[in-house]
Amino acid sequence: KVPRVRLPRWLKTEIPVGKNYHKIKRNLRDLKLHTVCEEAKCPNIGECWGGGEHGLATATIMVMGDTCTRGCRFCSVKTARRPPTLDPDEPVNTARAIVSWGLDYVVLTSVDRDDIPDGGASHFAQTVKEIKKSKSSILVECLTPDFQGDRVCIETVVDSGLDVYAHNMETVEELQPFVRDRRANYNQSLAVLKYAKLYKPSLITKTSLMLGLGEKDDEIMKTMEDLRKIDVDCITVGQYMQPTKRHLKVKEYVSPEKFKHWEDIGKSLGFAYTASGPLVRSSYKAGEFFLKNLLK
Ligand code: SF4
Ligand code: SF4
Repeated sequence: KVPRVRLPRWLKTEIPVGKNYHKIKRNLRDLKLHTVCEEAKCPNIGECWGGGEHGLATATIMVMGDTCTRGCRFCSVKTARRPPTLDPDEPVNTARAIVSWGLDYVVLTSVDRDDIPDGGASHFAQTVKEIKKSKSSILVECLTPDFQGDRVCIETVVDSGLDVYAHNMETVEELQPFVRDRRANYNQSLAVLKYAKLYKPSLITKTSLMLGLGEKDDEIMKTMEDLRKIDVDCITVGQYMQPTKRHLKVKEYVSPEKFKHWEDIGKSLGFAYTASGPLVRSSYKAGEFFLKNLLK
């Protein structure tokens, strides 16, 4: 029997709570939004919802339902071949809720919907357009599925007027078949990020990696280099945490020093923004980055 890796002290943190957090939490009850922040019990919720030191409140909202057509081995979202049909009112209702919530930066993400002809691309796009129509100053990041690499789907999302196009690589090339659903793969995900940038060069592109799945240093390095070659602007690197006992086991709790090393590597490779740390998630302080770098 393989012994369980013990949780190191740097992951047993107190969650800091910013000033907007309680207000936002109260409002959320009435808005009927599904936030990844709550559902994934994200440790950064206090900082993100509270707005951090600059008061720019960020949250990650799930659209297109809670049931995915894929089954990645690190993810606790439920799976079905035919999830419920999309709610056509969701784009308008989500936009209304986000505006009344008082967010400054919103990350829209979704399950994968391989059952829908456009993978939900137009639903994403519609939601972005409704948000921008209601309040143009809200910054919108879309963290999208791979759309099976379909370029028209990527164009649809890019044309919606979003500010950041994000798609997660999740792990190094060597571990993709063990970690992600068999319909996902390294080259397809790289191609999504590459095409989004090619189609609209002024767009900011972003991706995320989880560490602690057994990846080797040279494999991480190669992934980061591959991402820079296709001009990805932002990268976040965080610790994989096993959501339930049925999911992939954590192979290693990577030390904060090692995460710092990857942050330094990210900077030296020329990413405009690298966030790397045990508690970093793909949307971690996304708004803060904008405030510091783009809204000056
Ligand atoms: Fe939500 Fe992402 Fe912030 Fe976590 S890091 S609280 S998921 S916005
Ligand atoms: Fe989870 Fe996304 Fe994989 Fe679906 S595609 S199982 S939501 S990580």
